[in-house]
Amino acid sequence: MKPMTVRPLLAALSMALCMFAAPAPSVAADATATSLLGFTGEGAATQRALEQRFDAQLSASEMRDWLQRLSAEPNQVGAPHDKANAEFILSLFKQWGWDARIETFDVLYPTPKHVALELVAPTTFKAMLHEPPVEGDATSALSGALPPYNVYGADGDVTADLVYVNYGMPDDYKELARRGVDVKGKIVIVRYGAGWRGLKPELAHEHGAVGCLIYSDPRDDGYFAGDTYPKGGWRPPEGVQRGSVAKMMVYPGDPTTPGYGSTPGVKHLPLDKATTLLKIPVLPISYADAQPLLSALGGPVAPENWRGALPVTYHIGGGPAKVHMQVESDWTRKPVYDVIATIKGAQEPDRWIVRGNHHDGWVFGAWDPLSGTVAMLGEAKAIGALVKSGWKPKRSIVYTSWDGEEPGLLGSTEWAETHAKELQQKAVMYLNSDTNARGFLGAEGSHSLQHLVNAAAADVTDPEKGVSVQERLRALMRVEGAGAHAKPEAKRDAEIAAKGGDLPIGALGSGSDYSAFLEHLGIASVNIGFGGEDDDDGIYHSRYDSFDHFDRFGDPGFKYEVALAQVAGRMVLRTADADLLPMRFGDFSATLDHYVAQLHKLADAAHKDTNAQHQLLDAKAYELVSDPTRPVAPPERLSDVPKIDLAPLDVAAKALHASAQAFDAAYAERAAGGFRMPARQSARINELMGRMEQMLTDADGLPGREWFKHMIYAPGLLTGYGVKTVPGVREALEARDWQGADKYAAVTAKVLDGYRAELDVITTLIKH
Ligand SMILES: [Zn+2]
Repeated sequence: MKPMTVRPLLAALSMALCMFAAPAPSVAADATATSLLGFTGEGAATQRALEQRFDAQLSASEMRDWLQRLSAEPNQVGAPHDKANAEFILSLFKQWGWDARIETFDVLYPTPKHVALELVAPTTFKAMLHEPPVEGDATSALSGALPPYNVYGADGDVTADLVYVNYGMPDDYKELARRGVDVKGKIVIVRYGAGWRGLKPELAHEHGAVGCLIYSDPRDDGYFAGDTYPKGGWRPPEGVQRGSVAKMMVYPGDPTTPGYGSTPGVKHLPLDKATTLLKIPVLPISYADAQPLLSALGGPVAPENWRGALPVTYHIGGGPAKVHMQVESDWTRKPVYDVIATIKGAQEPDRWIVRGNHHDGWVFGAWDPLSGTVAMLGEAKAIGALVKSGWKPKRSIVYTSWDGEEPGLLGSTEWAETHAKELQQKAVMYLNSDTNARGFLGAEGSHSLQHLVNAAAADVTDPEKGVSVQERLRALMRVEGAGAHAKPEAKRDAEIAAKGGDLPIGALGSGSDYSAFLEHLGIASVNIGFGGEDDDDGIYHSRYDSFDHFDRFGDPGFKYEVALAQVAGRMVLRTADADLLPMRFGDFSATLDHYVAQLHKLADAAHKDTNAQHQLLDAKAYELVSDPTRPVAPPERLSDVPKIDLAPLDVAAKALHASAQAFDAAYAERAAGGFRMPARQSARINELMGRMEQMLTDADGLPGREWFKHMIYAPGLLTGYGVKTVPGVREALEARDWQGADKYAAVTAKVLDGYRAELDVITTLIKH
């Protein structure tokens, strides 16, 4: 779903990096020197030798062959090739010695029976709504794909004036209101970008619109960004981004089984009770189809930052452009096929390391998701070979290939909900990937696993630069944070990177299959993938995300496919074999301190911004600058900001800081002593460490969305994908809900106290 994007300032970068990248001796050679978290000195050497044998099994050409086969036919949910891919993946796991099976779930998956769009006034135009074949792309002429659509949008047949609302985000509607244009009874056209696509029709509906069109403006991922396909990798005029619009930030998964698995015989909610379904019809269109609609608009000229790269004057409307749109769908259920494969652990079989990547695409899915899938298959084959050569992991390893991710994380969510109890008992980590391509490592996740990510990245060589993946990412962070216009977060990351130690990882919002594990079950999770040098964004969720496109513009030579398998493989093998789980709670505590400091800044800014606005309103400044021929109304007066009580959070974070330091110190002392302790004691410590992340959840969940139980990480209600850390407090502050902020400061503080108390229990256990 959400691609791993690390694409900033490339031109400047390549220049800067050659500064940093004096080729160093191959990373692997001198890696033996350094210790590994969770291992004794001797154990670390054995582990690295095992990883060398693992690497020797990885083959770029094999991964290329798998990708060609898996992406040879359309493989969306319900397509014959989607099922065939699941069966092929199952057969590979079995061949490699894994205990593997397919688990099937019956999910609501509407498909289009009839879609149509036409301009009916002031002139007429019939939208193509189809992606034609392109030269040099072998699969682009194949049949069997679904027409472009936004799954879980409503059926409808509407005709109305058109209004252009930029990205269709909350601030865009404020801007519209100030120009006296509303969308009641209108059809809204917005461009992709700046947030989760499902928010666009949802906000349009909330503002009274009767239909929504979402188009890809060439400024964002078409000819403004680079040569279009097939000459370059960017979005061609007829390319369309399909995608789900379900309200995933309320709950993902099958809309008709909220919080429980869509297993045979369960009750499915009637459609009118499924709250993640949308109420108005939505259609995704290409910029070739959008241009005649936009150029037929009149009304005010759009603000400068609303203007894309189409050769038209961007107007807002409403009218005189009037459009007629139709969407009629087949609202039946379809089977999704999850492949689940296990290697049982020898000493702690009830501690599970779970790894996953989805296999369903929107059409051929070469980049999204099969690029990640083939790297994961490479890992599975190598691990199978290690087992055949006599190695056995201490803990169990579970590899999963999900179906139904594109419509709404269906396969992973239904599986996680069905096995919730056992997963909360046994799973210690969930490691996800999705898209993968040439470039830099992107990593987001639970911060107790930040060091694990760094240590793996430090031991893998970047195929282009000959330095470690970690060092190349360090260079990126330092360059990005150096610019005069660098964002505060980038500056902070650059400062940390410059110190030479671990690099900070991001926090997880939503957009791929980790959501149910982390945000519903509270299992420590990480999402990784390479990217940033590829030209894939333009074919995202279109017919042109094909093997030929990926082979040219994604990862020619499949070198980053091998690099992903090396990083992910190390994270899995180390967590499966360490004496004590490789977790560092001081990193979580330090990150939390940063989040709490941000919340204080947010509260202070609310005070400052409100006072500033009041002064401008009292001085009638808005009236004075408004052009009488194009009047823009002053903004609505903001309410006064009372004192916001974040003290409970400060106290809890401070106490946790001390406990985390004590834990990490006790852990390090045990490591220095060779982790000598009875197996029963280390097994008990690992059992409790493996469940620590669950202590960050609250049974009541977040306001208005109880499915989201994690009190530190969640996708934003108004971002859909983007993370909101300490969401209960941060979103209340952003919504100027001061009481909500106080309430969730107390709720989150209580959760953190429970986490700290549990950590102290484990510290005592480690010391004895
Ligand atoms: Zn994906």
